[in-house]
Amino acid sequence: MKTKNILIIGAGMGGLTAATHLARQGFHVTVIEKNSNPGGRCDRISREGHIFDTGPTLFVMPLLYEAEFAALGTSVGDVLDLQRVDPTYHLVFDDGSRLALTSDMKSMQEQLESFEPGSFQAFLRYMDEGYRHYHLGIEKLVKRDFRKASDFFRLDNLPLLYQVKPFVNHYRNMSAYFDDPRLKTAFTFQDVYMGLSPFEAPATFSMMPYTELAHGVWYPKGGMYSIAVALSRLALEAGVEFLFDTPAERIEIEGESARGVLVNGELLKADVVLANADLPYVYQCLLPQGREQERLANKQYSCSVISFFWGLDKPCQALGPHTLFLASDYRENFESIIRNLSLPANPSLYIHAPARLDPFMAPEGQDTITAIVPVGHMSENDREQDWSRLRDDARRHVFRRLSLLGIDDLEAHIKFEIDFTPPSWHKRYNLVKGSTHGLCHNLMQLGYFRPDLQHPRYRNLYFTGASTRPGTGLPTAMISGRLAAQRIMDELKD
Ligand SMILES: Cc1cc2nc3c(=O)[nH]c(=O)nc-3n(C[C@H](O)[C@H](O)[C@H](O)COP(=O)(O)OP(=O)(O)OC[C@H]3O[C@@H](n4cnc5c(N)ncnc54)[C@H](O)[C@@H]3O)c2cc1C
Repeated sequence: MKTKNILIIGAGMGGLTAATHLARQGFHVTVIEKNSNPGGRCDRISREGHIFDTGPTLFVMPLLYEAEFAALGTSVGDVLDLQRVDPTYHLVFDDGSRLALTSDMKSMQEQLESFEPGSFQAFLRYMDEGYRHYHLGIEKLVKRDFRKASDFFRLDNLPLLYQVKPFVNHYRNMSAYFDDPRLKTAFTFQDVYMGLSPFEAPATFSMMPYTELAHGVWYPKGGMYSIAVALSRLALEAGVEFLFDTPAERIEIEGESARGVLVNGELLKADVVLANADLPYVYQCLLPQGREQERLANKQYSCSVISFFWGLDKPCQALGPHTLFLASDYRENFESIIRNLSLPANPSLYIHAPARLDPFMAPEGQDTITAIVPVGHMSENDREQDWSRLRDDARRHVFRRLSLLGIDDLEAHIKFEIDFTPPSWHKRYNLVKGSTHGLCHNLMQLGYFRPDLQHPRYRNLYFTGASTRPGTGLPTAMISGRLAAQRIMDELKD
């Protein structure tokens, strides 16, 4: 029998994972990538000996990585050199108070009790809820492929409606545990990773603070980009072919199926096309226009970020690996970002100093710093968004916040700066609206309600990645790649 040809558009985490699974099953797999390197959003910039992970900086949910690398016939330990990061985050509040989130329960007890008497017991109860949400959510929602409605709307899924609190607002749910708004903030800010406000997110997402403390936040030596390198190596070993600097121009449709992909004006024929490029972009730019485009335009998109990458001429030892400055006007922060598509007046922000964990990331005696400020995604109507002004405002907020830690001279030691604004995300990875996490993860865009891994009409066209199922995140993109590959294998068998 003739070997089936599979074309994959995009060498992001989902694309790389699917490619490896499919090639290992004997398919002829070619990955077409518009950029010159694999990894997609899990990307890297190197300059003057400074190495920046420009996308993900947090290796969270290690059990998912373990399962996905095992499915690829290897283990995390074989392909990555991991170290645990503890404390996971250093949180700094506007009033100057600080909280180091750690799995050292004695330290947590001392710190939490100094914020609010009795809060340590409440924290343990919250972790217990997070444990339930994590295990049920991962097994019943994240790892499952919902091929038809009845796979989702099943009797045995009914208890989930109260077990993982999908209809309870995450922030409101915090009142059952803490009174101090700083503690409510400390255990809900992770919702931003899903592109969500805790004031809208389901309480299900208490699974995030739980897994960060119970299973740990980790760091792969060489930075997060090592994960992209490891996956590409596995793909090459399995026989996957890569075409870099090769943007797909169109998915060629004939009748009810995809014939292949147009590249440099030439048709690359395929039996199956798998799109790893952001799903809304694929519908908008690579497929014939139809009703689905309209439906996608009305969906909710995650926020974006303004990122600064700084090479410093001296180390900034006062910064831990992951520092978060959390604003006291927490609710207004999300209102500004999500409703006004703008930069809050006093934004919460995140700073990453990888050289604290890994000397490889900066030249000796110097430092490599990334600052990330969440901001609204690009507006598609006439709303004014002056990205240069917003970028300059965001930079000022970073320096203002650093002074809370007594760091007043960082700006004077910057050798060079690279910055990304929402249009940069849009241009580099074809992310619609520059939304860094694609479609957001509200209740109506989760599980079965998230766009499917297979096109509803062109049945030999599939999707994988953050805007399809199960959703954003590196290990989740690997799950998405595995589920899409499985779906393709099953359909080709039939
Ligand atoms: C700033 C930021 C911080 C993040 N932090 C974390 C974190 O700490 N931990 C975590 O787990 N996750 C994090 N994420 C999320 C994570 O990076 C993504 O969810 C994941 O990488 C998405 O993978 P994907 O499979 O959807 O592919 P993508 O990364 O979207 O890759 C798709 C690929 O398709 C290519 N492409 C697009 N159009 C075309 C075309 N026409 N032709 C050919 N190729 C094309 C793109 O260039 C890209 O390489 C972060 C993301 C961002 C942006």
